[in-house]
Amino acid sequence: MKHVVKSPRGTRDIIGAALAPFLLLEKISREKACLWGFEEIRFPSFEHAQLFEKGTGDTTDIVEKEMYVFEDRGGRKLALRPEGTPSVVRAYIENNLSSIRKKAALFYIGSMFRAERPQAGRYREFEHIGFEYFGDAQAYADFEVMCLANSILVEFGIKPKFWVSSIGCPQCRKPYSVSVRSSLKDIEAQLCQDCKRRIEKNPLRALDCKICSHKTAQLAPPFSKCDACAGHEQNLLDLLKASNVPYELNPKIVRGLDYYTRTVFEITATDDPASIAIGGGGRYDGLVEVFGGPKTPAAGFAFGADRVVEALAGTQQGTANEKEKPVSERIFLTSAADNPEVISHVVGTAQKLRGDGVAAELSILTDSLKSQLRQAGKSGARFCATIGEEEVKSGEFSFKNFVTGESKKLLYEAMVKHVKNA
Ligand code: AMP
Repeated sequence: MKHVVKSPRGTRDIIGAALAPFLLLEKISREKACLWGFEEIRFPSFEHAQLFEKGTGDTTDIVEKEMYVFEDRGGRKLALRPEGTPSVVRAYIENNLSSIRKKAALFYIGSMFRAERPQAGRYREFEHIGFEYFGDAQAYADFEVMCLANSILVEFGIKPKFWVSSIGCPQCRKPYSVSVRSSLKDIEAQLCQDCKRRIEKNPLRALDCKICSHKTAQLAPPFSKCDACAGHEQNLLDLLKASNVPYELNPKIVRGLDYYTRTVFEITATDDPASIAIGGGGRYDGLVEVFGGPKTPAAGFAFGADRVVEALAGTQQGTANEKEKPVSERIFLTSAADNPEVISHVVGTAQKLRGDGVAAELSILTDSLKSQLRQAGKSGARFCATIGEEEVKSGEFSFKNFVTGESKKLLYEAMVKHVKNA
């Protein structure tokens, strides 16, 4: 038996009808980004591993356990990007955006890579649609990005729920971190190896450890925010209360990344806080400085596009759409004669149609007409035009509209008009 090379574990091909909702989500995201004043950015798929170690955090699960790290031929330690925020911050500094404008709003669409155990909604390569808003320290900025996220999801057909919390700032986290450390020491023997290490390095990380959180979370003393952080949270809640963003306070949301300050939020597609997150984000006022840039407040979020699409497919409407074959306003051209003159006429017609702004696709023109018409039926094209020796002479095409079932003879100009007006 031949050895067939398959796609790596946790990756997949997305083709045809399965791709359609991704394209739609990306289209809506780009349109809304434009309405909110966000500009698209593309950045490398791999970066120096250090970027994520410093940014995402070297005690986070993403960096410790899930990052694809490799050495390139020059001996550099690189990593496939597991998330976009550190790259956007690096790009913001490297391209000196802060000196060009006080406020910068950037968004990106692209693959992220994490070596997680694949399961429903969890892949090793998945798509993030992310938004980062630099320069505004006020709760209005947190509110802006949450409204944007809500608007995209609602337009896509999802009823999102935002779970909001505040994790304070380094100042109010310091005493909290000391008391969490001492509680963890009491149960050190029951902790996983990672959390044992985290006791000294980053005790708060133990609170959202996938293995230990059920033991550690209940030990955590109540978190008391400083006045400035409490005020920021209240301002955001007041804005949310007066808006149509469906939210609920949930102090359990901590987000597994190091850089967050104050606001953090996760988004689900149901009212159940335990359901799979389709997106998440928050404020990260210290990250630009960590990477050597000027002190710059920032807030952002990212959707997991795969999970957003799967959430929609879980609804009635989504399932119906998925099964429906997308119809494209395209003419499928077939040749009724295996004769070089007719075939070159068909090929020429395709070029002419495209030049006139009409999408055209060719069948395998040397196949039998029966087989070509079968190809046309399966192609997803809405129209079919057949050209034979007679049509070459008369200039008329045998034209069919697959959706209405209508068939007629049309001259080139009439055919173009029909398609454009359909
Ligand atoms: P995070 O910043 O890690 O919370 O990621 C943001 C969003 O990306 C999550 O809310 C998920 O929707 C999505 N996501 C994270 N990891 C994966 C994965 N392995 N596969 C698919 N989607 C993911």
